[in-house]
Amino acid sequence: MAWVRDAFSEVVETCLRVLPWPTLPRLIRVGHPGRDAPVLLTCNYDLTVRRVLRALRGQNAFLLVAPTRGINVWCSAAGGMFTAHQVISILRTSGIEREVDHRRLILPQLSATGVERKLVQERTGWHAVFGPVEARDLPAYLATNHKTNEMRHVRFPLLRRLEMAVTWAFPVSAIGGVILALGWPRLVLPFVAMAWTIAVALFGFFPWLGGRAEHGARETPGWTRYLVFFDPSIRRLLVVWLAFVAGLCGFEYWKDAWNIHALIGWGLASLFIVLLVGMDLAGSTPLYKSGLHEDRLLHIELDSDACQGRAMCWEVCPKNCYVIDTERHKALIALPDACVQCGACVVQCPEDALAFVTPSGQRIPIETIRKYKLNLLGRRAIAVTPQADAAHSGGSRREA
Ligand code: SF4
Ligand code: SF4
Repeated sequence: MAWVRDAFSEVVETCLRVLPWPTLPRLIRVGHPGRDAPVLLTCNYDLTVRRVLRALRGQNAFLLVAPTRGINVWCSAAGGMFTAHQVISILRTSGIEREVDHRRLILPQLSATGVERKLVQERTGWHAVFGPVEARDLPAYLATNHKTNEMRHVRFPLLRRLEMAVTWAFPVSAIGGVILALGWPRLVLPFVAMAWTIAVALFGFFPWLGGRAEHGARETPGWTRYLVFFDPSIRRLLVVWLAFVAGLCGFEYWKDAWNIHALIGWGLASLFIVLLVGMDLAGSTPLYKSGLHEDRLLHIELDSDACQGRAMCWEVCPKNCYVIDTERHKALIALPDACVQCGACVVQCPEDALAFVTPSGQRIPIETIRKYKLNLLGRRAIAVTPQADAAHSGGSRREA
């Protein structure tokens, strides 16, 4: 039965979400699309494709699945696996041009940090627009052709937070459980229970734990910023750990069988799990730039003279940082502190009116943000896709 297989895949892929999960890049017909049916595009991360198809139930549309190495939209776009090249490649190879009379393509909004819309248009003649952040908003967006502020805004609701808790709890408990099973089988169940409790607590209480404290990070010099102990948010993680240890003590008291060695052992093991899961809590969310990324220290600067008020920044910003003054045809950065340094506005601005500036006042060339993508440590490097190599032919792999 299809729904059982679908539910099973959903559970397995959620548990193993840290791994790429590629599905075949292709053209999918949803319902009975005609020659004027909307054309949407997404990444080839299997979980995302299934969720988009679920959201599109009852619609008539074409869905293009681009080759993004099985990685989700937000991460593949930031990491250089989802760029204009992948979009151009699927537009040219899928046969979609024979299926429709128009050339309007709806991209996921969170791909704006990697897919240069202008490049897609120049190379293919397709006019790309950025649809809503969430797949569930697609029917409303398709019905009105209008994206509300709500549809633009990225959030991290409880259900998503619990999904991330599962994403962390499953591998930690599986690896720890297998190791313990080899020598201390009676500890497996308590360890698994501990890993899940801590992960659920950290992500469940995330709004109260908050992201990385930027000021502390700015003041932290050189390589030490990669050490979690220098991160002021560690104090909030320690509160979660202390609450867990208090729970352990309460359990021992209830049993009336104090075992100090067991308490120390479980205390240390829980501290390790809290630090492991919480080390980059901000980076496990769509709300903050990873605490390990150098880009988190940048701030956005607007050249008001160059701005023509075309509102692409407003269109793609997942944190609704911009407002557009429609009389003066100028953008204003209304919420600079909400910026997560995703770079989408810099990549998409047609007038090159936006740029990142370092804490020391150095302006990062706009081309660097467009061309160089983030590696795992958040440094900008040329993405090593064959397409990128061809596009930047002659350039050796180097860091910006
Ligand atoms: S995208 Fe650029 S030109 Fe357009 S409103 Fe924003 S800053 Fe101004
Ligand atoms: S203002 Fe910040 S969060 Fe908004 S698109 Fe630009 S870089 Fe991203």
